[in-house]
Parts: sequence; structure tokens; C-alpha cells
Amino acid sequence: MKIIMLGAPGAGKGTQAQMIAGQYHIPHVSTGDIFRANIKNGTELGMEAKKYMDQGLLVPDELTVKILLDRVAEEDCKDGYLLDGFPRTIPQAEVLDKALAELGDAIDYAINVDVPDENIVKRMSGRRACLSCGSTYHMEHIPPKKEGVCDKCGNDLVLRDDDKPETVLNRLEVYHKQTQPLIQFYEEKGVLKTVDGTKPMKEVFDSIVEILEK
Ligand code: AMP
Repeated sequence: MKIIMLGAPGAGKGTQAQMIAGQYHIPHVSTGDIFRANIKNGTELGMEAKKYMDQGLLVPDELTVKILLDRVAEEDCKDGYLLDGFPRTIPQAEVLDKALAELGDAIDYAINVDVPDENIVKRMSGRRACLSCGSTYHMEHIPPKKEGVCDKCGNDLVLRDDDKPETVLNRLEVYHKQTQPLIQFYEEKGVLKTVDGTKPMKEVFDSIVEILEK
């Protein structure tokens, strides 16, 4: 099963992505996590990506597409995967489509987690992330067991630079301009499913599972 998660930054798609990937035992592939791991390790790719990420801008397609195609070519992705944060532009979606078509394959579901802009900025300021293992939390909705500490790996939780309010507004603008057109793109391919992301986390999860099991 090959699934794409769509939705504005802060719509909760990362959390749903972790849960869905866990439920179906498929790798959770997040381009944001790959970039953050590269930043942490001080790689050239990381340094280049950081310039864009810190401003809430998208990393250029050339860089992003390559790391994604390399990642999904790995052994653990051969029976399926869930993409979180990719594609974010029509050209990225077209490259992925073409690469899959060459293998006689295609995306099975594009799940759009729909949340109005008004809710987004409020949500993002409560977000906390573990820069070591990529887990995400929310101070109100998904608090860690111990404040400021990752449940999974015990490292510190932080408000990511790109979740700070001024950056969030930029990211929303970028989302509407560059990423939202993907909704129509996948609708035309007949694989788009929209869920109401304003509902409690568990309800959103259940509605995604219902879609995948139909
Ligand atoms: P995320 O963790 O998915 O919210 O991604 C954090 C940041 O990484 C984004 O705001 C972008 O700067 C960058 N990024 C992640 N995925 C992509 C992508 N598919 N295309 C371009 N930039 C990306």
C-alpha cells in the first residue's frame, strides 16, 4: 500500500502518519525528518535545506525529489510506504508519478487532512518535536509522559524554528500557493480522500483506517 498524506502544516498529518504507518507496518517516510536528520548531522544537504526551512520556504524540488526517490528505493519500502510531507509541489508529484509508472505502480491513496487556516497557527505554537527521533507531540493534545522529554528516546523536546508563529504564516502562504493544487491533482487520479482534521486525533485516525479498509 502506497499512501500520501496531504494537508496544511499543522493539520496533524504527521501524527496521523506515524499512527497509520504503525498500524499497517509500513515505513513512515517524512522528507522533513530526512532534512532535519541531515541538519543535525551537519551534512551539505542539511546546510542547504536549512536555509529554506528556517524561512518557512520549500527546499528546491531538485534536492527534495532525489532524497525521496533514493529513500523509497530502499528495501524496507518494497511492499509500500506512507509519504508525509512529499509531494509538496505539482512537479514533485509528477516526478513521483513517473517513477512509479516506470515500475508499473501508482499511489493507492492520497489522504487530505483538512483543517481551516484559523485553527492552524494556534495548533502549531503548542507543537513540540524531538530532533533526535522525529517524534512529535502537542502540549495540549498529545503531551509527552514527562514534560519536555521524548517518550520514545528520552531526548529533549523543542519548538522547531519552523513552527514559530512568524514562520507558520509563511508556511501557510507557501502551502496555499504550492501544495494545495495537489488536492485537485490526486482528485483527478481518483485516489483523493478527505478527512476532517478538526476532529479529535483518534476520530481522525479511525476515519482514515475506515477509508483504507474499504
Ligand atoms: P515538515 O516536517 O514536513 O513540515 O517539513 C519541514 C520543512 O522541510 C518544510 O517547511 C520545508 O522547508 C522542508 N520540506 C519538507 N518536505 C519538503 C518537500 N517535499 N519539498 C520541499 N520542501 C520540503
